[in-house]
Amino acid sequence: MFCGSNMGRRPAYEAAAKTLGAELAARKIGLVYGGASVGLMGTVADAALNAGGEVIGVLPQALKDKELAHPSLSELKIVGSMHERKATMAELSDGFVALPGGAGTLEETFEIWTWAQLGMHQKPVGLLNVEGFYDQLQAFLDHVAAEAFMKPIHRGLLMAAPDPASLIDALQTAEPVSVAKWIGKEET
Ligand code: AMP
Repeated sequence: MFCGSNMGRRPAYEAAAKTLGAELAARKIGLVYGGASVGLMGTVADAALNAGGEVIGVLPQALKDKELAHPSLSELKIVGSMHERKATMAELSDGFVALPGGAGTLEETFEIWTWAQLGMHQKPVGLLNVEGFYDQLQAFLDHVAAEAFMKPIHRGLLMAAPDPASLIDALQTAEPVSVAKWIGKEET
């Protein structure tokens, strides 16, 4: 799970983070996230833990104090760098959800989505589009595909839903895609 290290302006973001944490625990799906206790990151972890879920945090040493390591996770992995954090989270996870967030959230989500396009994994990726938070991004990405910088099938790999239950359902039933990224070139 990728999400903001801030809470955001609207109460709906915190509410969605709480619902997602509880929903994951209820479905016995373990949560892998950045390991912080701040912002929506801490909210979703607390909600999953309070509902009896398993939560693994992956935090770079350099951020241990800045993002305040969560004190009561099922497991906290301290890693050497941001790159190691992302690689570790990618390896431990079976699918990826982005809640509302800032540059860090977008960066992490785009990286894992581009890895799917490149065929480096076949795990589903989805945006939790709370109160239309990601609407403008979605419209821009449709434009990117319309301008032939991305195949529609790869555009579709970045899924979206307005609430946690329907997003988890969509990710769990997603069909893996294996199509070459480059437009006009056939699969080899
Ligand atoms: P933000 O959405 O900006 O609040 O950041 C959410 C999370 O992404 C935080 O845990 C940040 O430490 C993390 N983050 C920010 N930039 C990067 C990056 N370049 N690579 C990996 N994680 C990042």
